[in-house]
Amino acid sequence: MNLFDLSGKVAVVTGASSGIGADAAIAYAEAGADVAILARRMEKLEVVKRKVEELGRKALAVPCDVSSEESIKHAVEVVLSEYPKIDILLNCAGIAVRGGVEDVTIEDWDKSFDINVRGYFLMSKYILPVMVKNNYGKIVNISSVNAIIADKYDKLIRIPYNSSKAAVVGLTTGMAAAYAKYNITVNAVGPGFFITEMTTEMAKSFVFKKMYNAIVPAGRAGEQGEVNGTILYLSSDASKYVQGQFICVDGGVSIV
Ligand code: NDP
Repeated sequence: MNLFDLSGKVAVVTGASSGIGADAAIAYAEAGADVAILARRMEKLEVVKRKVEELGRKALAVPCDVSSEESIKHAVEVVLSEYPKIDILLNCAGIAVRGGVEDVTIEDWDKSFDINVRGYFLMSKYILPVMVKNNYGKIVNISSVNAIIADKYDKLIRIPYNSSKAAVVGLTTGMAAAYAKYNITVNAVGPGFFITEMTTEMAKSFVFKKMYNAIVPAGRAGEQGEVNGTILYLSSDASKYVQGQFICVDGGVSIV
């Protein structure tokens, strides 16, 4: 029995146009799932779609701005017009707004929460009824190690990011407790530092890299695809009795 097998499953992935979400969509297809990939940049989604199709799985690319309820509602309707069900939701779309309490604007604060928290809430709100009806569902929320650890260096301070990613952990435990009775698991993942579009600027900094590598027990940043194992675990029957957990995939940076 392969506990990680996703054959016959349908996975919806937000933030699937690049980075961790794009990698996860491909990993889902490798594990046997058909996917619906959501983001704003359709040209990038088309690239991921082709990769999924090359693996022999179905991919549906749907434009979606997770800061808009209408856009989310419409995207879920499109997914359900193509697929008979949704088994897995990976909430991954996110932004990292930098700044401290004194310099972050209300607009940046609201934008961070609209995308990083309200977007996860609304995706779940529109997909949960389908999962409840089927008495089956796996929701994986990408939070961040920055939900529980913060940076003290001026250039790295990201108060809206820390706050919104911590809120994702609360959303996860709340939903997990409420929906466990419907055979739905809800868990969160806290990636450490991975080089993606979001972190390109930081990754360019020699000082940051040197400092980070000195702090993290693994001595390096995460490599592309290294979050996939935990995402697949939490999206498959391998984690059937794992509920409301927050698992960091961070080379140990959260424990030092
Ligand atoms: P990327 O910048 O590569 O990916 C971000 C994704 O979010 C893109 O697909 C983007 O798609 C999507 N997105 C952003 N805003 C919106 C929006 N309004 N509507 C819909 N989609 C949106 O970064 P990562 O892959 O690194 O980030 C993915 C997740 O992982 C985020 O939640 C991030 O916080 C988290 N994370 C990343 C870490 C890292 O070190 N890289 C560490 C910890 C957590 P598009 O622009 O096409 O809409």
